[in-house]
Parts: sequence; C-alpha cells; structure tokens
Amino acid sequence: EAQPAPVVIIGTGLAGYGIAREFRKHDSDTPLLLITEDDGRAYSKPMLSTGYTKNTDAEALTQSDAGTMGANLNASVWTMTRVQAVDTQRKVLRLADRETEVHYAALVFATGASVIRPPLGGDALERVYSVNDLMDYDDFRTAMQRLEVKRVAIIGGGLIGCEFTNDLLNGGFEIDVIDPLEHCLPTLLPEPCARALQRGLEEKGARFHFGPLVTEVNFPAGSTDYVQVSLSDGRMLDADIVVSAVGVRPNIELAKASGIAVNRGIVTDRHLKTSAADVYALGDCAEVDGHVLVYVAPLMAAARALGKTLAGEPTQVSYPAMPVTIKVPACPTVVAPPAVNADGEWTFTVDGMSTRGEYRNAAGELLGFALTGDATKEKMKLQKMLPPILA
Ligand code: FAD
Repeated sequence: EAQPAPVVIIGTGLAGYGIAREFRKHDSDTPLLLITEDDGRAYSKPMLSTGYTKNTDAEALTQSDAGTMGANLNASVWTMTRVQAVDTQRKVLRLADRETEVHYAALVFATGASVIRPPLGGDALERVYSVNDLMDYDDFRTAMQRLEVKRVAIIGGGLIGCEFTNDLLNGGFEIDVIDPLEHCLPTLLPEPCARALQRGLEEKGARFHFGPLVTEVNFPAGSTDYVQVSLSDGRMLDADIVVSAVGVRPNIELAKASGIAVNRGIVTDRHLKTSAADVYALGDCAEVDGHVLVYVAPLMAAARALGKTLAGEPTQVSYPAMPVTIKVPACPTVVAPPAVNADGEWTFTVDGMSTRGEYRNAAGELLGFALTGDATKEKMKLQKMLPPILA
C-alpha cells in the first residue's frame, strides 16, 4: 500500500527543526520530511556571535548531525538539497539537480533569511566574510586562524555587528566598526541607549566610524598580508579580515516564484497559513499577520501553534511582548521596540552607562522600552506593562 504524502518542511534552522519537534509532540507517525540546502546540523544560531567569548568553534556548537535529528524526529532529513520550485496546485516540489518530484500533504516554509551584501569594490573581497549560519561560521573561524588575524573591520553597527564586536574584543582582536548612520543599532535602539552601548564597547577598545560607507576592500600593492578598507569619506583603515553585518532579508524568492503571496516576508495569517492551500511559513522568512520578527522567541511561539494545526487542531499564534536581549556584556542592553505604527514618544533617564528609555502614548501607556547597564534590571517589571504584539 502506498505511503500517504508526507508533511514536508523546507529548512532545518531553529524554525524547521522547531516545527518538526512541535508537530511530533502531537503526531508521532505521519511521514515527515525535512529538506535543507545546508548540512542539516542542529545548532543555536544566536551562539554564532558568542563563539570567542565561550570558546566554541563550529564543532562545539553542533548539537546533532542530520542523521541523529532524523532518528530523533522519526523523520527523513535530506541535506545539501535545494528546493527549486513548488507546484501548489498539484502539491509537489521540484528539487535542484534531481528528476524526482516530492508530493506533500502539507508544506512548511522555514527558509530563513539571507545576509544583505553591500555593494563593495576592490580586489580583496575574498577577505570579506558574513556569518549567518554554522557553515559560514566554520569558514570564518578557519580563516581567522589561517590568516593569523589581529585586526577586524566590521561593516555595520547593528545588532549582529555589535555582538560580533563584543565577542571579537573578548577574543583579543582589534576592532573597527563602520556604519553610515549616526549611532549603533539605528533601527532598534534610540540614540541615548545606543550611545551607552557604544561607550561600553569603546571602553573595551572598539573604534566606531559613523557616517561613511565602506566602498572598497583592497590588498596593498604587492602584498596579501592585510587589506585596506576604503570609506566613502576618503579614509582608509587597515585590517586582516572584514566581517560584513549589514542585515538580513527574508528568503521569499522560492515562495514568490511559486505564486504564493509575499510582502517583506512570506505572508501568513495567524494560523501561519500562506495564500496557498496547505502551505505554511514561520521563522525569519515569514511575515505573520504583518510582523516580520527575525528572532527566536517568535519562531518558537509560531512552532507551538503550527505543530497543533498540522496535527489537526487549528491553532492561532499569539505573540506576547518579546524584548530582545543584545549580547553585548560590555553594556548589557535589552529593547522592546514599539510597533512600527505606534503613536507615542520616547523619554529617557540617563545615568552614565545606565539608560532607561520609555516609549509611551498620549494616554501614558507603555508601548516600548530600551534599557542599558544597570537599568536592564527593570526588564521584567516593564515587560509586564507592555501590550502583546499579537493578542
Ligand atoms: P535559518 O536558521 O536561516 O534556516 C533556514 C533554513 O532554510 C536553512 O536550513 C537553509 O538551508 C534552508 N533553506 C533556505 N532556502 C532553501 C531552499 N530553497 N531549499 C532547501 N533549503 C533551504 N535571535 C534571538 O532571538 N536572540 C539572539 O540573541 C540572536 N542572536 C543572533 C546572532 C546571530 C549572529 C545571528 C545571525 C542571528 C541571531 N538571532 C538571534 C536571530 C535568530 O538566530 C534567527 O531568528 C533564527 O535562527 C532564524 O531561524 P530560521 O530557522 O527561521 O532560519
């Protein structure tokens, strides 16, 4: 007798393995297939930016290999396999470099987000790394050793750029950070809090260059010993390696090419359902009821709801307030950004490295906050006062 079509999950990041685990809590035997274009190792992506602090290379960050994950989940895990196209009418997938079609009963996009690559010129682009998954991280750590790196230039002073700055300072490296905007974490942190975080990193030795773009990365004439990083204001910085951390963009191309509605992310309702029948999305690739939230807490909430839905118990996702902790121990920072359409104002209490920003509406209700230094002790208290993101 033919097997029923499986539930198919595209992606084995925290979202892909997360939904697989949640589904298996409610359904232990429906065939389950995970397909990933990477090597399928399970790891916690946030740990990529604490590797020098915790002395963990890629091997140490690997929780399980794909085979072990498959056995534990009673699932098949196909690695190094790219899903090329989805026919949502016939409910089949086509894979790159393969003839076979894969039928699905339900399909989950957990395709994550890709790094944005800034347009850079120069002849030393091979020295520019970005670290967005375990394989990137392995390459980066290997290069750091092989090149006997002492000086690192980081493009982008956002969340990832600042976390790497702190981590690489802990590793004993010299760090320059270049960002075209005025202060670090410009999209997440209001300025007084960002200045405290900056000061914390500067006190450990980081140098910030706000205003210019990085335009080129070149080897000096006649040498490949180090690189020269050219800035749009005419300055030049020397470094041994460059880390690009200018942000991520949800992977929506496959869904879009398959006729599934996309916006900034793959558009879903609160059931994580896309515009196509029996097709769902969660994690960094998804735009859930208008929210693109590229963090772990929202994808875990989504996985819990979708696990039930896929097992036959339709369940909407709820998002509580989910403050983001920025892993910069030089200046502990936590932020609960107000919703994009929120109507309110920031007020600040600043005491050295301790800053407390509160975002309130005209009625005085707290809609967001940002805390640094000692003020981070107030996180729990303030978090309880926030409205949920999706009630
Ligand atoms: P991913 O982990 O990107 O997984 C995507 C998967 O899809 C991969 O397996 C990929 O191979 C597969 N895939 C994509 N397209 C295809 C295709 N066509 N065919 C087959 N497979 C495909 N968040 C926090 O909440 N707290 C933190 O402290 C934090 N720190 C972070 C630090 C760093 C350095 C980074 C990079 C991120 C951090 N984040 C943090 C964000 C968090 O890690 C992500 O939100 C989360 O890991 C996203 O998981 P995901 O499964 O959606 O995506």
